[in-house]
Amino acid sequence: MTMVEPTTVEPSPSSDVEALRETQPDGKPMMLGTKRRGEQTALYVFVIVPFIALLATIPFVWGWGITWTDLAIATVFYCVSSLGVTVGYHRYFTHGAFKAKRGLKVGLAVAGSLAIEGPVIRWVADHRRHHAFSDREGDPHSPWRFGESLGGLSKGFWWAHLGWLFEAEQTNEDRYAPDLRADKDLRTIDKLFPVWVAVSLIGPAVAGGLITWSIWGAVTAFFWASIIRVGLLHHVTWSINSICHIIGDRPYASRDRSANFWPLAILSMGESWHNSHHADPTCARHGVDRAQIDISARTIWLFEKLGWATEVRWPKRERFDKLAEKRAAEKLAENA
Ligand SMILES: [Zn+2]
Ligand SMILES: [Zn+2]
Repeated sequence: MTMVEPTTVEPSPSSDVEALRETQPDGKPMMLGTKRRGEQTALYVFVIVPFIALLATIPFVWGWGITWTDLAIATVFYCVSSLGVTVGYHRYFTHGAFKAKRGLKVGLAVAGSLAIEGPVIRWVADHRRHHAFSDREGDPHSPWRFGESLGGLSKGFWWAHLGWLFEAEQTNEDRYAPDLRADKDLRTIDKLFPVWVAVSLIGPAVAGGLITWSIWGAVTAFFWASIIRVGLLHHVTWSINSICHIIGDRPYASRDRSANFWPLAILSMGESWHNSHHADPTCARHGVDRAQIDISARTIWLFEKLGWATEVRWPKRERFDKLAEKRAAEKLAENA
């Protein structure tokens, strides 16, 4: 049983004002309008087009290059590894949004490792540093790192999405995740990361081979449920760092540029309600408003019903109402 201390960084009133200035850098609504439309189009093209192209190949290879079996295996592995990251790595290990029984803790750490986004302790350390410095110097993956210009932002987008992963400098785990380093189960799971990578890549091929009782079944399952599934999941996770710090709605006061981007709600298991998350980081539910689908929150709810998760930090309406009021006041002050 691990006791994860919530990592909320409460902004001081003066840092809020600063954050506000950063979100509206030049104060020229006309210019901002033009720039944002350009950014938005570029982002859609970069992120969505390759996947549309991939989907477009499916009819041509259907029946021999991809089958229902491949799709089913890919879906199962996508859901398990993705929820391992969102419910486990993120909401539980990073932010302590609930307490978990030992079996659930171990299960979540292993499931998250299957996403191949790095071992649990490093992931958590990086993400806690992201919250501590969000969109400021020290943030490991802010898209605003290279400035406000379109060129700087294009560079920043790639940095936030992918480039930061290649940075030789690592987040100090002892400093940002001492609670996880102190947990023997987690240290073991963390060390066994190469094993989880192998399970995640070979597991789908074995399943495909056994279900279809053929080598070809193993090959297509490996392509779709290992390679493509991991690739899609990586892009979705990285999009939270890149897209969700650039475009979308900002209904709640947060001290950074995090935004709610609805098109990714389902694929990201609710993580694209990112402004709400930065506004109240320890909250177990990110899609806090009506009709905001949040599959991770549903999963936590199920774990709570099963008695595996306790002390779940469900959203408090009054708190979010206050954060919305604060944001509205900030907007007013900006326009004054
Ligand atoms: Zn963020
Ligand atoms: Zn977070």
